[in-house]
Amino acid sequence: MLTSAFVIKYAEIGIKGKNRYVFEDALVRRIKETLENVDGEFQVYKEQGRVFITVDGDYDYDEAINRLTKVFGITGICPAVITEDEGFDKLAEQIVKYIDEEFEDKNFTFKVKARRARKDYPIDSMEINASLGEKLLDAFPELKVDVHNPEVMIHVEIRESINFYCKEIEGPMGMPVGTAGKAMLLLSGGIDSPVAGYMIAKRGVQLEATYFHAPPYTSERAKQKVVDLAKYVAKYAGPIKLHIVNFTDIQLAIYEKCPHEELTIIMRRYMMMIAEHFALQDDCLGLITGESIGQVASQTMQSLLTTNEVCTLPVYRPLIGFDKQEIIRVSEKIDTYETSIQPYEDCCTIFVAKHPVTKPKLDRIKKSEKRLEDDIDRLLEEAYNSTEVIIVNGDD
Ligand code: ATP
Ligand code: MG
Repeated sequence: MLTSAFVIKYAEIGIKGKNRYVFEDALVRRIKETLENVDGEFQVYKEQGRVFITVDGDYDYDEAINRLTKVFGITGICPAVITEDEGFDKLAEQIVKYIDEEFEDKNFTFKVKARRARKDYPIDSMEINASLGEKLLDAFPELKVDVHNPEVMIHVEIRESINFYCKEIEGPMGMPVGTAGKAMLLLSGGIDSPVAGYMIAKRGVQLEATYFHAPPYTSERAKQKVVDLAKYVAKYAGPIKLHIVNFTDIQLAIYEKCPHEELTIIMRRYMMMIAEHFALQDDCLGLITGESIGQVASQTMQSLLTTNEVCTLPVYRPLIGFDKQEIIRVSEKIDTYETSIQPYEDCCTIFVAKHPVTKPKLDRIKKSEKRLEDDIDRLLEEAYNSTEVIIVNGDD
């Protein structure tokens, strides 16, 4: 019997030895999760350096591919056919039929690449290659063999069952989410922070996120925009716990009491502090921001030093050396760009000074912050207690 399947390839770098099963199990789990809401009866299992997905009956091929291209850890997705071992002649017959169905136009060069993982199979890989090649040439005289640079590589893997495929769709690479701990993303409505989250999740890190809004200075639409962005990131990263912090009173206090050219820096220090509070509460091992050196006044080396100072956790800034154009390219790839450029106000833009400091001095900033002394503990407590938490799922 022929079964539709996907052979899932993953890089083996860094996962040799006793950690390998952790990686594979996480990959299988993520694939199961992501296929849960796709039409079709999918079975996912691992076998000797590969993950297999089999499907009984009809299924939504396009959606399955769409989802699988977002599962970190996958390097290649090969739509395949799985069959029982019913002898070589039968296999050859099936492959000839398969090639006939896959390619209307047979004017291409090919090579057969067999792999015999089960050594008791009576024919070795070299023989399978030669013999299958011959049968294909007999059936379709337009075909040509090219062993060096074929247009189509026909893979045949002899295992407990046998699979064959001739196409490989590129996966997103990286490591399966959940293999590297958890980190807290400071997620704004801009272009950068969703990309930063995506890049860290790609290394296997599970994400939580914190968004600061300032109602009524920022609207419900601005908040919805951030939820939408989190949804796009969650398509790759899995469900994201999003903390929505009401930052209005803290911002107003800073605005009233501190020098206006220092507003942004002081505000960013409190953002980092609050994000770290939730990060520590939920066992996150780091913070993530979309900062890039020199992009704006609050991202000069001096500003980064000043905001970094409030954190005890490491702050991961995957875009630190990126130009805006490079960041935009990634945001287009992960579909966040169109949402990011919607023109809703962000809580930072409301309270920005005309001439923000670009080289803040830490002691000066700390001195300015002293003016908040009487109120800040209460304000922080209120912000923590009024924070709304939602789980954002990429499937919605
Ligand atoms: P982005 O495009 O992500 O908004 P940006 O270029 O606007 O970034 P800043 O406003 O200086 O830059 O913010 C730098 C980083 O601080 C952002 O990438 C994000 O990680 C965090 N951040 C800024 N504003 C907010 C906010 N309202 N809520 C949560 N995090 C924020
Ligand atoms: Mg921003």
